[in-house]
Parts: sequence; C-alpha cells; structure tokens
Amino acid sequence: MLPETPMQVTSENQTVNASPILRLWFEAALVAGKWEERVRLTIADGNVSRVEHGVAAEPGDERGSVGIPGLANVHSHAFQRGMSGLAEVRGPASDSFWTWREIMYHFLDRLTPEDMEAVAAQAYVEMLESGFVRVGEFHYVHHDCAGKPYDNPGELAERICGAAAATGIGLTLLPSFYAHSGFGGLPPTTGQRRFVTSPDEFARLYENAARCVRTLPRATVGVAPHSLRAVTPGELERIVALDKEGPIHIHVAEQAKEVADCVAVTGARPVEWLLDNAPVDGRWCLIHATHMTPEETDALARSGATVGLCPVTEANLGDGTFPAVPFLAQGGQIGFGTDSNVAIGAAAELCQLEYSQRLSSLGRNVLAAAQGRSSGRSLYDLALAGGSAALSDPADGLGVGNPADVVSLRCDYTSLAARERGDAVLDRFVFGGRSGYAVDKVWVGGREKVSAGRHHRREEIAVSFRRTLQRLLSP
Ligand SMILES: [Zn+2]
Repeated sequence: MLPETPMQVTSENQTVNASPILRLWFEAALVAGKWEERVRLTIADGNVSRVEHGVAAEPGDERGSVGIPGLANVHSHAFQRGMSGLAEVRGPASDSFWTWREIMYHFLDRLTPEDMEAVAAQAYVEMLESGFVRVGEFHYVHHDCAGKPYDNPGELAERICGAAAATGIGLTLLPSFYAHSGFGGLPPTTGQRRFVTSPDEFARLYENAARCVRTLPRATVGVAPHSLRAVTPGELERIVALDKEGPIHIHVAEQAKEVADCVAVTGARPVEWLLDNAPVDGRWCLIHATHMTPEETDALARSGATVGLCPVTEANLGDGTFPAVPFLAQGGQIGFGTDSNVAIGAAAELCQLEYSQRLSSLGRNVLAAAQGRSSGRSLYDLALAGGSAALSDPADGLGVGNPADVVSLRCDYTSLAARERGDAVLDRFVFGGRSGYAVDKVWVGGREKVSAGRHHRREEIAVSFRRTLQRLLSP
C-alpha cells in the first residue's frame, strides 16, 4: 500500500510530509485545557502556530462545530481486528483469556504480510474515525507461518508502517520481545512460534523498526518486553537497554493465574516484582496492571509510570477491574488502548472504564476529578495526559507549538448543538453513544484524514480487509 501523500526529506534525514498553512475555525474548542468560543487555529508545518478566540470565521477558514484534541491509543495489536467476533462461542470448559489466546494463535496460522497490512489499515481507519490520532502498536508477530524469520526480518513491522502511512495515523512502533511460555523461562509453545526471537535477533528487529519509522511523519519507536511470563529477568534487562529514550511497554498482571504463577516462581507478584527489579519510571507503560494489592497500587502510582488500560478488551476477556480510584488518588497516570481491537472507539474505552468502576463501587461519577467536575472531561483529561506520556509524544492538547492533532465533533441533535457547550459536550461524547456527539473531521499533524465521519480511504481499505478475511476464514 502506498503512502497517501508525497514526502520530502529534511536536513535531519527525517522524512516528513510537506504541510501547507491551514486555518480551522470552531464555534467552541478546548484549547490549552480551557473551553473558548469562536476559535481559530492557525496550523503551519503540522503544528498549531497561533490560537485566537472570540473571532469571526473568515473566508478560507475550515469551519467546525466543536474542536477537541485527538487522543492517543496507547495499546493495540492491530492484526487482532481481523478476529473480532471469532471468540464469542462458549467452549467445552470455562472460557477465559487463556482459551481466547488459543483462538488468536489459530488465527495466526495463515496470516501473511499482505494480510497484516490490510487488517492493520482497517483497524487504523476505525481508530481515526473514532477520534484516535496516534497508536502505540505493540508488535509481537515477527516470523512467517512456520515460525521462520522472513528474508527481510523486519517484513511485518514494515507492513505496520505501511498501514500507518496509508491511513495517516501517528505511529509509535513498539517491537515486542517474546521468548517463553511461562515464568521460569519455560520453552515456547508451537502457537508462539511466530513471536519467538533470541535477544540478538530482537536487537536487529528493533534497529529495523527504528529505521522504518523514519519514513513516517512524527513516528517514533520504543521497546516492549512482552510480559514477565514471556521474558526472563536477564532478557528484560537486555531488551530495556536497547532503547535509551523511547517508551517501554510491558503487559503485567492481566490475569489471576499470571499472578499466581509469578508468585510461585519468584515469590513476588508481577507488579511488585517489576517495581523491585526494573528501573520503572516515566518512560514505562504497564499494560493492564489489573490485579494489584493496595501496596502495589500505591507504589505503581508513585513510580511515575503510566498504566495502559484497555477497558473494552479487559471486559471482553473477563480480565478483572482495575483499581482506578485508589490509583488516581495517589497521583497515578492512566492512558487508554484498544488492545484486541474487538471493538474500536475512543469514547467507548473511556465510558467502559467509568462503568467498570460504577459497577464495582455501586456509585456514579466515580472518576470525576472533584465535586462539580464532569466525568467525561475528567476522563478525557486523563486520556490526553496519559497518552502523551505513554507514547512519549508532545501532543497533550491543543495549544501553540503542539502538533495539530484535532478532532471536530458534530452533534447529531442540531437543536442541542446550539446550546450545549463546555464539558457537557464531552459528557455526551463519552456517554451518549451514537446519538450524542460524533466525530466529524480529524486532522493529524494538520492533515485532514477523516471528513463527515469517514476516512478518506475507507472504501478501498475496507475492500482489501474483506478480501483478506474471506481468505483467512475460509475452511
Ligand atoms: Zn495487549
């Protein structure tokens, strides 16, 4: 798949898209953390260069109803979009994450590089259409269907980059190291053959990923030791040392069995072990961290790391409920991800987290920052700050100097659109479902990728996705 726009190479040997000056005008917009009326954003070289408010629209301005900053999706396995709905039939024993994982392994039996790119492009289109502007792609499928490295070992990472280029989503590529089937360095299973590398092979994959992202505007690379069950302590140290400044992501404490296995082998729980044995700080993003004691929760909040929550997937897999209230009370930071991509939606992830807390606490507006504060706004602020931290990206809101990652919302009830302003817009966006505010346009780095709720290449990418699924799912 070809990139959508011509590219130019800068003096830093970075490849970026040339970007004209653009002016966006909104009836209202959330700028530098504050709602303003009649707002004009001037965008040059992909960044917001000027913000005006209380001004009339002028000829040439692109007009929208409500402007908000786009969110980062901190955790995705793009290929899993293709298996959405395939694991919802009850099996012979009790179903769990572990039975779901067997279906995921089976789905990978036939997935080619072309399939990877087609499915990832579909996932990224849907992310952009829902208001995500950047994705942290936790990429652990490296080899061919037989488990052999491709002639080009970075083949599949390049397919992820291809999908990002075709859709225009911002990419933080997180190549993942995976070596074992369980704690104590157990040998990998047949189902894991496409993931497994030695640390030396992985170092080459990481270098390749770092080269690959240079072909994309504002794309970055990090490193992702898969989990404590798939990586030994010695390997963890080597993998983390590969990247000196990018984000470090790891799955942790998603499942009760994972906690029990970790205790059995190491004598410590996963989050406890990680905090005691790894240099966890603001570069780290711990994915899930569902099962923690109060002591682990406090210690993780104080570490400066972000927790990457994937509430829709965690509910789909029956993982458990994250202790968000005590974690946030201790100053903890959270971001949001779509993980298995069983359903893709920025608002849906925020909504699901709040609902999980309401169900477990028998209360309402549990994550609103304070009395009188809106739940939708509080969740959106958390997602913005956590997304920026987890992906080491400066896009933490609309303001001068920040990337022009902008989402324009329209209200499906036109009578409401005239009266409703401020945080109530985000409450309706997060909790109102399809009858509330919906994404109208999306700009990534000042480039329009979605208009009237539809990605510019939606049709051709959907055709390719359908063809891919027909082949993958045929008997
Ligand atoms: Zn994951």
